[in-house]
Amino acid sequence: MIEVKHLSKQYANHLALDDLSFSVAKNEILGIVGKSGSGKSTLLKLINLMEIPTSGQIVIDGQSTDQLSNKQMAQYKAKIGMVFQHYNLLANKTVAQNVALPLRLVGKKEMDRVASLLSFVGMGEKADAYPADLSGGEQQRVAIARALVRQPEILLCDEATSSLDEENTAAILRLLKNSHDTFGITIFFVSHDLATVKQLCERVLVLEAGHLLGTVDNQPHLAAE
Ligand code: ADP
Ligand code: ADP
Repeated sequence: MIEVKHLSKQYANHLALDDLSFSVAKNEILGIVGKSGSGKSTLLKLINLMEIPTSGQIVIDGQSTDQLSNKQMAQYKAKIGMVFQHYNLLANKTVAQNVALPLRLVGKKEMDRVASLLSFVGMGEKADAYPADLSGGEQQRVAIARALVRQPEILLCDEATSSLDEENTAAILRLLKNSHDTFGITIFFVSHDLATVKQLCERVLVLEAGHLLGTVDNQPHLAAE
């Protein structure tokens, strides 16, 4: 259970999030939509501890993120994986090296997990390729494998399909759904595009200028292969 309580974020002279409250059940796929500038990325950065709230709290499994020791903070961050619009793969590393990076950063060498995740995302044959040799959809598959490699409980997706065409968007949405079903992860799927969000998410929060405008219950309808 993740609770966002009266969360606000003020940048210099701009209030990016204004008293936002909602909660997310374990295992939910939550959509968050809003126009550019509505505060979606800021919300994910606060959940990810990349930014500190001006006021309010995020409480995960009963523990508030503003009360974490350094060790707890590292454990908390390990629970979260993130996927971005522009994939953010390292150009001078192979696919397998990119996926292994989060493990290497914490001194782990579970290369069998890298291989099994690459095959899970359908990139088993491309382990030794470089990002520049891959299509956008393939790069996002690799980025999803990288986000999953430390077995997170939560996956944050920030405009994860916004650079992809319709077909690749559908494939990535199916992969996210499959990741959810296979590993039981909670997904936050952020997009400016309501139609895309509605393919994947049962509940959609609508943000406007840092406020929660409303919540939409939805029947997801993933495109078939
Ligand atoms: P979204 O992801 O919905 O496009 P953001 O969370 O990126 O929105 O931004 C919300 C608002 O906060 C925007 O007006 C943006 O310009 C502003 N903003 C975001 N990051 C910063 C920052 N580091 N410094 C100042 N303003 C920021
Ligand atoms: P184990 O306790 O052996 O890790 P699990 O049932 O948790 O067993 O996982 C089964 C397989 O799925 C393992 O190969 C594990 O690495 C992988 N796995 C589990 N959770 C995740 C996750 N959140 N993201 C990616 N892979 C995962």
